[in-house]
Amino acid sequence: MKLLFLQTFGCQMNQVDSERIARVMGRMDYTLTDCVENADLILLNTCSVRDKAEQKVYSALGRFKEIKQRRADVIIGVGGCVAQQEGEALLKRVPYLDLVFGTHNIHKLPEIVEQVQTLENRPVETAFYRDPSYMEDPEDAVRVGGAKAFVTIMQGCNKVCSFCIVPHVRGREVSRPSEKIVREVEALANHGVVEVMLLGQNVNSYGKRTPGEIGFAELLARVNAIDGIQRIRFTTSHPQDLSPELIEAYAELEKLCEHLHLPVQSGSDSVLSRMRRGYTLDDYLGRLRRLRARCPEVAISTDIIVGFPGETETEFAATLELLEQVKYDEIYSFTYSPRPQTVAAKLYDDDIPDGIKKERLTRLQNLQRGIALCKNRERIGAVEAILVEGRAKLNNGQIMGRTRSNRIVNAFGPEGLVGELLPVRITGATATSLIGEPAGAVAASDLHPEGEFA
Ligand code: SF4
Repeated sequence: MKLLFLQTFGCQMNQVDSERIARVMGRMDYTLTDCVENADLILLNTCSVRDKAEQKVYSALGRFKEIKQRRADVIIGVGGCVAQQEGEALLKRVPYLDLVFGTHNIHKLPEIVEQVQTLENRPVETAFYRDPSYMEDPEDAVRVGGAKAFVTIMQGCNKVCSFCIVPHVRGREVSRPSEKIVREVEALANHGVVEVMLLGQNVNSYGKRTPGEIGFAELLARVNAIDGIQRIRFTTSHPQDLSPELIEAYAELEKLCEHLHLPVQSGSDSVLSRMRRGYTLDDYLGRLRRLRARCPEVAISTDIIVGFPGETETEFAATLELLEQVKYDEIYSFTYSPRPQTVAAKLYDDDIPDGIKKERLTRLQNLQRGIALCKNRERIGAVEAILVEGRAKLNNGQIMGRTRSNRIVNAFGPEGLVGELLPVRITGATATSLIGEPAGAVAASDLHPEGEFA
């Protein structure tokens, strides 16, 4: 038996990829370890969506240099988005690195590791594949470990947002065959999974590039029909692909959770145009209005970038106005950082000083904190179902779960409830979470219209 130390950076897609890396290498007799000192193989699964994430990878690699000096036989590899972006250049920058594998090459990892061991070369595998079979793994459908599972349904993106490196590191859109996705979810349900999160860089354009394949709304309907599955979520989506069919799915599919993450990025049309997002604010708001008309309880979260090149105070103020108007339940906000190979990095100077970026980010986040606190307080007194995920972050004897609208609820309760759907009465609220108490048997009249118990 050999030991694998695997460190994951970035998004849920990378988490899923890391689970697959562990399974693929498990078949080569590698067992995961938390102790890097004893590892035979050290792999970093990396993120390059922002400069900060990329820098974390280089500092992690810096820490492993000394291990390699002491133990020359340890194999160190980098995979994921930084690997895809940098390729050969990573080997030059990090002379003690043994291998590089891109986002489409996890299935080739055993071969790549073997090359290091037998041929003593430093392989770099960063090919992109159009055939979706590279995303399949025989053990995907039989993995166990909890009531909640991520399921990759597609990878890549055909959009051309000027700030975004994703199309460069994940390639063009490739969708998995729907029958394989459905079979995987059925198998997960048979293993006790009750909630699935369908994953991809642009899930709501699922199937569009595959002749004869069903669309995303139909895929949701097929997953909705699977016995045992009680909740369906997905991430992430592009506003242009929030189709009338998908809006109808929110009204009709009882297992589809009332939450949509719909990245807007900016509230200013001129910034959206420089970002090449492909919609105006009016388009975006119109789609949201139609969604809310069909599913009034839907919670909306979004991504926002502040300090995009040339962003004026007036353009930034439009984003603040957007927050007031939409009243997002949650936002993920970032300062702009130029990414290699992107149109924005080539066309525009990164001309907003760091101090102004940070100050805008603080104003944005303060405004959102107030909005989220008000929205969360409105839930006090309601009874909602949470899927218990584990211990609360504070580790104060509380358990933590999420409502269908994706709000975090902390409540006192035994750890044995992990994986259970539990009704809780909401007793308090902060800007980022709710406080609740197990509601036990509740009268139907007490139930919030959003909960499964409604
Ligand atoms: S849609 Fe999303 S993943 Fe695709 S280019 Fe735009 S920001 Fe990047």
